[in-house]
Amino acid sequence: MEKIDNNSWFSKISFKQRIWLFATVAVMLAIIVFGILLSSSSKPKGSVDFNINMSIQDIAPKLGVTGKGLARELELPIDVSKKKPLNLLKITDEELHHAVEHILSHRDSVLKYYIYAILVLFGLVFLTRLGRPDGANVKNRHEWYPRAPYIVSLLLSVIVAGFFLGKSPNPMEGLVKVFKSMVGLYPDPVIKIIAFGFFIFLAVIGNKIICGWACPFGALQELIYSVPILKKIKQKKLPFVLTNAIRAGLFFIMLFFLFGIVGGRKGFVIYHYINPFNLFNMDFESFSILLTVIIALVVSFIAYRPFCQVICPFGFVSWIVERFSVFRVRIDKEKCTQCGACIKACPLEAAKGKVEGKRLTADCFSCARCLNVCSVDAIKYGFGCKRDLTKKIH
Ligand code: SF4
Ligand code: SF4
Repeated sequence: MEKIDNNSWFSKISFKQRIWLFATVAVMLAIIVFGILLSSSSKPKGSVDFNINMSIQDIAPKLGVTGKGLARELELPIDVSKKKPLNLLKITDEELHHAVEHILSHRDSVLKYYIYAILVLFGLVFLTRLGRPDGANVKNRHEWYPRAPYIVSLLLSVIVAGFFLGKSPNPMEGLVKVFKSMVGLYPDPVIKIIAFGFFIFLAVIGNKIICGWACPFGALQELIYSVPILKKIKQKKLPFVLTNAIRAGLFFIMLFFLFGIVGGRKGFVIYHYINPFNLFNMDFESFSILLTVIIALVVSFIAYRPFCQVICPFGFVSWIVERFSVFRVRIDKEKCTQCGACIKACPLEAAKGKVEGKRLTADCFSCARCLNVCSVDAIKYGFGCKRDLTKKIH
């Protein structure tokens, strides 16, 4: 892991900042207690209640999916008769069991929404109010924004929001489920839109902060990338034009297949075969999922968040809405000397784009690496929509 020297930072933050820190932790605890009280363990009992003498129409409502949704899970055409017993549709007990388990694994843990909210809250307060001691001298900038609070937040995300609470909900599925509900795979499109709205809201409040600080698979990749090895290789960044083109291409291919425009199998979701969030349920139902997880995690040792950059549809959509984010990395064009220190510190092409004043910069994951390298104090994480630098780096 990167060098963690948190004592000097804590001893230097002001009294006001300590109040902010304790108040934030208190609010986080209150949100979690509230979340625990409100979240109910409403999971259905499981496949023991179902058998192949029942029809799709009997089973689907109990699982919270539509008949089309269950038909798709059973690998039947989505317009198959919903009234026929499953054994007449040649479905075996094992196939039914597998489909039910898969649907149940996608059920949202309500508590997880609260976990996402507190991790984002902490990230936001850290980036805007706590990371840099009040009145700090820029010469001591390397003590600002220590990595320890970030590492702790990432670990909490992986352990609690990931392995403890399971794969759903997560931002990627939040987006995909909106489109799935449009082809009738879920009975409650409004709920899916609200869930997706929650993730997008968090992404807009702080620049992609849900991805940077709370998403469990993003956090796992970030932790692996933070292991201080292979530093020379890490200096090479994946070209944003290429990664974003692949990510966008996959997204539109997914839509074409899902709506049956290509392939003739409406309801087919390509992300289903490369969904790395299955890791948190230890459910590698297909070899392609296992392969995706292994490749993403191994490549994370040398490249920053490869899954987020190249594949994740939420990464793509939240990149589009970054332009409206309320809090984000800001560069003061009057102060900047264009030395390139922040560009070097950034694991992506985001800082470069900001310094160059590009409208469509690469994704910024609010990772804070650029916030303590500027010798003229030209970078801040703050509020506002003033344009960044417009001068070009030469
Ligand atoms: S882009 Fe990465 S961090 Fe964001 S939702 Fe996708 S996997 Fe998670
Ligand atoms: S280092 Fe790059 S990704 Fe991280 S906060 Fe700065 S601009 Fe964003």
